[in-house]
Amino acid sequence: MRRVYFDHNATTPLAREVLESMTPYLTEEFGNASSIHSVGQRARAGVENARAQVAALLGARDKEIIFTSGGTEADNMAIRGVVGASERPRKHIVTSAIEHHAVLNTCQALEAEGVAVTYVGVGRAGLVDPEDVRRALTPDTVLITIMHANNELGTLQPIAEIARIARERKIPFHTDAVQSAGKIPLNVAELGCDLLSLSAHKLYGPKGVGALFIRRNLRLQPLMFGGHHERDRRPGTENVAGIVGLGAAAELARAHLAEEAKRLAELRDSLERRLLSAIPHCGLNGDPARRTPNTTNLHFDFIEGEPLVIALDLKGVAVSTGAACSSGAVEPSHVLTAIGLPPERARSSLRFSLGRASTPADVDYVCEVLPAVVEHLRSLSPLYTKPIPAPAR
Ligand code: PLP
Repeated sequence: MRRVYFDHNATTPLAREVLESMTPYLTEEFGNASSIHSVGQRARAGVENARAQVAALLGARDKEIIFTSGGTEADNMAIRGVVGASERPRKHIVTSAIEHHAVLNTCQALEAEGVAVTYVGVGRAGLVDPEDVRRALTPDTVLITIMHANNELGTLQPIAEIARIARERKIPFHTDAVQSAGKIPLNVAELGCDLLSLSAHKLYGPKGVGALFIRRNLRLQPLMFGGHHERDRRPGTENVAGIVGLGAAAELARAHLAEEAKRLAELRDSLERRLLSAIPHCGLNGDPARRTPNTTNLHFDFIEGEPLVIALDLKGVAVSTGAACSSGAVEPSHVLTAIGLPPERARSSLRFSLGRASTPADVDYVCEVLPAVVEHLRSLSPLYTKPIPAPAR
């Protein structure tokens, strides 16, 4: 059976070049990067080379990159770090309703500790209006955190405009760029953000490693306490092989960014166009233009996303729903409900996220199997009545 992996927003395979860069650090170059002997110093050189590679992907200075255990830790470090460093008696955060749970649940945890949070809504396209961010600010606002690309829709937020508002008010601005890093060009000077999170496993690097860009001179309280690693910002013996892998992944992404983005957008558009024309009662969720090149999110009315994912898996196709299964009940995705989809349409939605190994033949295969899978599942649905074909003339 053919296998098609269209779930690159969940995770990506490790690139061969990345594995090759990591292997020496898992074998002979096993040193502790803090040791002063040459074994340690070779590990240190690997870490510092990776820091320069990640900085180059973002247009940042090397010293502005701190390695973490992934996107979740980078988001936590940014949010808790800025809030914890603020000496204001009352603190307020502005974020959006469509953030990843790494941001949403950190904000919710802070709310339980007495921090006020405003969750700015989005329109049908899934875009935050910068003026809504401006209106949400209060004299107590200590942080704005708005994601760059949404993981479910791919929608790209107007980060530079929001950054301008943050700068006018001298409020630190964090963006979660886990879903845009490596997919589209990123430059922290152009984006204007003060903090930016990324994660290696979304860009063909290893799982369990990420980075936080922290603009020079920004005050941040550390999440953890221990040794003096990472300029006192993140203690713990460095995950040298993982960090080296992130660096190699960043360099690889940077080398092929423009042509790969174009290739993926063409493939994604072809997939989307063909599915929309072949399947009745099917539509696009989110903005058709302002999004990452690899992502499309479609609803298939009258069916549930979960059985659709399972039926496609049986045909060798990996895709995902944005829904979360909590205590046995499938909750519709908070992102899809935030853009105004009714719960049943949100539950009928699938995310297709293409990647480096995706080919036109993969798109052909999905376009071949999906219409029949949808038709079959709909035939089992009591709510579905087949559209009446137009009379022959
Ligand atoms: N932020 C976004 C937008 C994500 O999509 C993800 C992962 O799905 C994360 C944060 C968390 O990253 P990690 O899996 O490295 O903890």
